[in-house]
Amino acid sequence: MDTNTISRIQKAKQYANEPHRVTFENFELQFKGDNDTYTTMLGAEGWHCSCPGFQKYAICPHIMALEKIFSVMLKRDPTPYASGQNIVSDVKKATRYAEETERIRFVAFSARIDGDNSVHRVQYSDNSWQCDCEHFQQRDICAHTDAMERLLGDMVAPIVLTPAKEEVGE
Ligand SMILES: [Zn+2]
Ligand SMILES: [Zn+2]
Repeated sequence: MDTNTISRIQKAKQYANEPHRVTFENFELQFKGDNDTYTTMLGAEGWHCSCPGFQKYAICPHIMALEKIFSVMLKRDPTPYASGQNIVSDVKKATRYAEETERIRFVAFSARIDGDNSVHRVQYSDNSWQCDCEHFQQRDICAHTDAMERLLGDMVAPIVLTPAKEEVGE
């Protein structure tokens, strides 16, 4: 591996171990519940979920599970419980869902990563990755996209390098 690749991987591992550097600006994902699959979104106006519970209470086990999984990457207060909501049952469900991340599949996201020297923005949609840093423009991969892939695991499609840009030794 060349030194660029080694330093990219080291940096990616470091960022993945320091998830507070990451801030989700928005995302859309598919959340497979026990009965149905729902679309859950976080945007400038806050959370939205297509499940019946959210329509009624503006909070649901899907959002509560995502708040657990991504806590430090959200930089926002947890959604308050609603009156009439079955809190005991929803907390139980959210706790179980948070352990079962194979239920979650990102459709798109935009996240900021506070690097050592500057701030970069990683974007993901339709299984493809983007970053605004210089390294990404040259190689289609960088410490930022690599770190996000490490953090999100099976919840995203893996980064695919085009053969021309593939790094030697990987
Ligand atoms: Zn929901
Ligand atoms: Zn980058």
